[in-house]
Amino acid sequence: MGLRPNLLTRRAAGVASTTLALLLSTAAVGVVPAASAFSAAPGGACVEPTDSHANARLKPGAAAKHEPNELTAKQVRERDADLAAALRERATFRTGAGTAPLATVTIPVVVHVIQENSTRAGGNIPDSLITAQINVLNQAYAGATGGAATAFAFRLDAINRVTNPSWYPIVEGSSAERSMKSSLRVGGKNTLNMYLGELSDDLLGWATFPQRRLNSMDGVVVLSESLPGGTATNYNQGDTGTHEVGHWLNLYHTFQGGCGGSGDSVSDTPAEASPAYQCPTGRNTCSAAGLDPITNFMDYTYDSCMYQFTPGQASRMLTAWNAYRAA
Ligand SMILES: [Zn+2]
Repeated sequence: MGLRPNLLTRRAAGVASTTLALLLSTAAVGVVPAASAFSAAPGGACVEPTDSHANARLKPGAAAKHEPNELTAKQVRERDADLAAALRERATFRTGAGTAPLATVTIPVVVHVIQENSTRAGGNIPDSLITAQINVLNQAYAGATGGAATAFAFRLDAINRVTNPSWYPIVEGSSAERSMKSSLRVGGKNTLNMYLGELSDDLLGWATFPQRRLNSMDGVVVLSESLPGGTATNYNQGDTGTHEVGHWLNLYHTFQGGCGGSGDSVSDTPAEASPAYQCPTGRNTCSAAGLDPITNFMDYTYDSCMYQFTPGQASRMLTAWNAYRAA
């Protein structure tokens, strides 16, 4: 049972430690994805917001509980100021889409599979799920699913299987997470370290934003059963990975900032007052032009509902790459 996260958790103050978190099924009664029966992907069928089962997982109390954890306007200003400063630091950098053909960036990916033991329930997912996840990333970031093409492609360099019960589940913001990443992280700023496992607090995943100084916490953490073919119903087509990598490449949620201000700092994603869940039809929560971007990878809808980045997001990611992660 999966409620797409409506939480953006920030555990520590300051830009350097900002972490985004996705929460899975908090309003469900303690059902964790690993305990769910396998369910086939919903095949693109959108669930209307009137669906009673879906609404049952959207308790107002749960939504209110998560609200304080969203990125504040001040934090967004700090991050965007840092991006500008990072760009100034660069002697040369490529601009985003619109002024030149997109650069092609191939991102080396190292996947760390955190296991409690050798069983599937203990985190031992097959390699086939991981290769499927890389394929999903490549399709999504190439625009092959219906969105804008971005500069990015992904190359799986290694699968590192680690059995360590003290790191399982992966607990967001914990000393164990820090220990895990300090021990396992490899590569430079351009290397995507992806940690897979069971996650704390019914989370689907979380990610770090890019920073000027490489930090061992850098990377994305993704619920292993959210990979394509996994057991996280409604969230098992790999789009949690796509979403988290979007954060790793400096994207905010489409609902960041609500209806006012600079929103998600991208001009072609219509403003959205709050996260969208499931796959609502005709949702329009702000008076500004455009329906809510519920099909965007950076919203909280079902995997079957989200399929695109915008040109503005592609540009923002490439700009951030050149500011923070390019060699
Ligand atoms: Zn997110």
